[in-house]
Amino acid sequence: MTRRPDLAVIGGGVIGLAVAWRCAEQGLDVEVHHDESPGTASAVAPGMLAPVSREDFPDPALLEFAHDARRRWPAFAAELAAASGTDLGYSTAGLLLVAHAPGDHPRVAAMYGFREGFDEPCEPLDADRLRAREPLLSAASSGGGFATRDHHVDAQRVRAALRAAGEAAGVRYVDRRVKSLDEVSAGKVLVAGGSWSPEVQAWPVTPVRGQVVLLRGPSDGPGLRHGIRGVVGGEPVYLAGRHGGETVVAATLDHAGFDARPSERATEALLRKAVALVPSLAGHQVVAARVGLRPDTPDHLPIMGRVPGAPDTYVCTGHYRHGVLLAPVAADLMTSLITTGADGTPPAFAPHRFRTAHEEERE
Ligand SMILES: Cc1cc2nc3c(=O)[nH]c(=O)nc-3n(C[C@H](O)[C@H](O)[C@H](O)COP(=O)(O)OP(=O)(O)OC[C@H]3O[C@@H](n4cnc5c(N)ncnc54)[C@H](O)[C@@H]3O)c2cc1C
Repeated sequence: MTRRPDLAVIGGGVIGLAVAWRCAEQGLDVEVHHDESPGTASAVAPGMLAPVSREDFPDPALLEFAHDARRRWPAFAAELAAASGTDLGYSTAGLLLVAHAPGDHPRVAAMYGFREGFDEPCEPLDADRLRAREPLLSAASSGGGFATRDHHVDAQRVRAALRAAGEAAGVRYVDRRVKSLDEVSAGKVLVAGGSWSPEVQAWPVTPVRGQVVLLRGPSDGPGLRHGIRGVVGGEPVYLAGRHGGETVVAATLDHAGFDARPSERATEALLRKAVALVPSLAGHQVVAARVGLRPDTPDHLPIMGRVPGAPDTYVCTGHYRHGVLLAPVAADLMTSLITTGADGTPPAFAPHRFRTAHEEERE
């Protein structure tokens, strides 16, 4: 006979897996029901751990949450690496903000000006000092800044590590598509299905498509020393070195429903910007082009908490462009809510903002 778990988590992306791991550590018997969809965001995200710009973090509650997450990442990474025996590709070398041409400078200056008032030094650098830090940058780079506490991680390794750490803590994984909450028998249920969350509960989560490319260079060539958030021709691009001489270039942003097919046009646009910043990447081979679907909400804020009108049901989704960064704090807050009832989730993320009284009554 199968055991009825204390908690069933629907969705095995970084968010669902992080909550599952933390809840299992607190002694809950946990099952994760997961079916990999094409476009799973956690399978594609590069893993920048940086609250960089006002356009990414328009809401103060989200910005505060992101800074909290950023502060938690070093300890979270150490704990996760130890619990899973996995190298997360976690880099603390800092993030370079780079303007490709003088016209790109105001947007980059706005990025480092954005950090004022937070415990996060960002030092403006002229073109020479920028290239001294990152010799592979183009001679055309016109300056930027250095955010010493903005880290990056290999998000796909993080996801694998969360799964392994969960397993070591007793989490069971069930390969299945949950079509309705009625199919799940558990003490408590958490909806953490990313862009697919509306399949099981009516949350206004929609997919926002993003493409990344992975490049591989000659094995003996030098890699990037830092993550790079560049602006090229007014458009942002993110570059980070990976183990094995690979470089990830991210990301496009458009709305195309659940279409997770990469396009040549997006690959070319990403390559153009990458090569403008780091000319030696022109000699690298494209080894993969991948599309992920960021789970967005109407106000671009996560939906986290107890589901009103649905006993023992919780939701944690809608982390849009920042789910890897936010995973540690989202997991800790959801775990204390689920295990003790103590609700530390930001009121701005409360699920009831999207529930009508009628819906609450119906459930
Ligand atoms: C191109 C790109 C770049 C990004 N860059 C960054 C970055 O640098 N830093 C950062 O912090 N974040 C970044 N993000 C955002 C981040 O990837 C997401 O916010 C995060 O991965 C969302 O995780 P999730 O677990 O909610 O959803 P997903 O990772 O999408 O996982 C949800 C999973 O649940 C499964 N599922 C859903 N419903 C069901 C069901 N009913 N039954 C069974 N399984 C189900 C789905 O199939 C899917 O596999 C990026 C995203 C993209 C696409």
